[in-house]
Amino acid sequence: MTEARRPKDMETHIGNHKLDPSTLMMGYGFDPGLSEGSLKPPIFLTSTFVFETAAEGKRFFEGITNKHGSGGKAEGLVYSRFNGPNQEILEDRLKIWEDAEASLTFSSGMTAIAILLLSFVRPGDVVIHSGPLYAATETIINKIFPQFGIHYIDFPAGASREELDEVMAAAKAKATNGGRVAMIYLESPGNPTNALVDVEAVAAARAVAFGDQAELPPIAIDNTFLGPLWAKPLNDGADISVYSLTKYAGGHSDLVAGALVGKRALLDKVRLMRNVMGGICDPNTAWMLLRSLETLELRMTRAGESAEKICEYLRDHPKVEKVGYLGFLEPGSRQEDIYKRHCTGAGSTFSLYLKGGEREAFAFLDGLKIANLAVSLGGTETLASAPAAMTHLSVPDARKAALGITDNLVRISIGVEKAEDLIADFENALRGV
Ligand SMILES: *Cc1c(COP(=O)(O)O)cnc(C)c1O
Repeated sequence: MTEARRPKDMETHIGNHKLDPSTLMMGYGFDPGLSEGSLKPPIFLTSTFVFETAAEGKRFFEGITNKHGSGGKAEGLVYSRFNGPNQEILEDRLKIWEDAEASLTFSSGMTAIAILLLSFVRPGDVVIHSGPLYAATETIINKIFPQFGIHYIDFPAGASREELDEVMAAAKAKATNGGRVAMIYLESPGNPTNALVDVEAVAAARAVAFGDQAELPPIAIDNTFLGPLWAKPLNDGADISVYSLTKYAGGHSDLVAGALVGKRALLDKVRLMRNVMGGICDPNTAWMLLRSLETLELRMTRAGESAEKICEYLRDHPKVEKVGYLGFLEPGSRQEDIYKRHCTGAGSTFSLYLKGGEREAFAFLDGLKIANLAVSLGGTETLASAPAAMTHLSVPDARKAALGITDNLVRISIGVEKAEDLIADFENALRGV
């Protein structure tokens, strides 16, 4: 809570009626009366904030430096590397979607992930992670951390409870020099496999494997692909939800930002690290994200409905080998069981496997007129790319094969254009294959 806001503006209920996140995105956490009646929050372009008294400055710094166990949160505004009104309003609104205790915003998804991990790992520790991960996340855990004596062990997304029990036991044995398992880091669904992680099973396996410890290793999960609308992993046993806000939350392909949403005690550790290292979202980007969150449900709902129609069309096309879409999971399969427990929608990002190879995939991509040939996802405009030749080009061939990243794979993120127009676009592009 800072000077730009007042408690009356933090209300989430009318009487006993709990307001929906989509409603709260319009005003929660901002009081126009404190900013000349401006309906929208001003962008606070300042590097520092004026204290009323020296004693107040001292009190605020006691918060920043965790003098009385504040977890790095100051009572007031101090300096823009620590906090700011736009960022705090954004953090308050992001919490709403997952009923979370706390939230932190960052200058990118990768900044959020790097500072999260750095807040928990020490030399000798082990990070358990699901695979595949976003390539840059995998670089941090599998390439950069080992240089500092931090180990990792991974398991395939979709692993069963028995496999999870085994990987957790193996992780404990892998720690060196008094290290421990520092974190369980998940990403679901995996890209581009769409394999879902059973977060409930991970939490149950963790309780058994680490039940003798004073503190359980936190479970963090990258929820960029389905969150915050279609998956709320904090309800399934995760402690921290990780976001690239660049994707669905930002939703207009015009900004880069990241966030962590989850348990306050854990995020306080991250906040202290962010206070030191920087990496907080800038005020302008935070303002843009407030704009984006107002339409988050509208955009994601529309994109999700269109994706369903488009996938149904593509599945039956003679030039299509298969469509990897969460709406088409095999009835009775493990993945379908996880989907039913963890997801409320199949999303709008899917994998299209054409009959043929790179030649056919490229011909399709080059023939698109509405969909843009670009990496990224979750924007208002439909994007299509070839992972084997682009985002996953540097992945070794054997690993590519294991992940199903074949040359005939086209990754598509559906936007908010009219579904029938996109179908016409895909139909036309397929004709040219
Ligand atoms: C894009 C992305 C990231 C990285 O986010 P940036 O905002 O680009 O730093 C991390 N995880 C997933 C799943 C992503 O799609």
